[in-house]
Amino acid sequence: MSYMITEGCIGCGLCKRNCPVFAISGEPKQMHRINPKRCIECGVCGRLCAKGAVQTSKGVVLQRVPKKDWPKPHINEKLCSACSICVDSCASGALKIAMPKFKGDIDVAAELTAPEKCVACALCEKRCPLGAIRLVPVPAEPSSAAAQKNEAKPDAGRDAASAASPESKASEEVRV
Ligand code: SF4
Ligand code: SF4
Ligand code: SF4
Repeated sequence: MSYMITEGCIGCGLCKRNCPVFAISGEPKQMHRINPKRCIECGVCGRLCAKGAVQTSKGVVLQRVPKKDWPKPHINEKLCSACSICVDSCASGALKIAMPKFKGDIDVAAELTAPEKCVACALCEKRCPLGAIRLVPVPAEPSSAAAQKNEAKPDAGRDAASAASPESKASEEVRV
């Protein structure tokens, strides 16, 4: 089974540049195609496509999802054996094995060192032999009731804004 690209495609190439298994081909401004022998149905192409031009083998059109809402890899350092399989699986270069903290330190694990490069393909999760890496949903936005409560308390909103550092904001960067 494989995902498919439909005639709505404008050939922007965004899916081709971000497919983790290099399953997509096509020339700029021409309809792209997915190689069904390579596609792992991760959905990265559909989450990126602004034209709604990617569909499943059952004809379900994939919806675009903002990058800030994509699930994020979480590594369980107690389970991770630092085997590097996830690092080698990640075509985006988002993972590394941590450096030892001191001479003789063997208690190292995989790390998400470049979260802005992660396309949430879940290949790392699928290939980890120890179940040490899982994609987890991003926390939900505060409810509208909570937002209204904060509006009623001006200081509360200001405190929250000052607590959010620029570094903590997820980058919208993709391979464009
Ligand atoms: S992202 Fe969408 S429009 Fe762009 S090349 Fe891929 S399928 Fe076509
Ligand atoms: S679903 Fe994933 S593997 Fe298949 S073409 Fe799209 S990005 Fe590539
Ligand atoms: S989900 Fe895992 S394999 Fe896929 S891009 Fe993110 S870190 Fe790399």
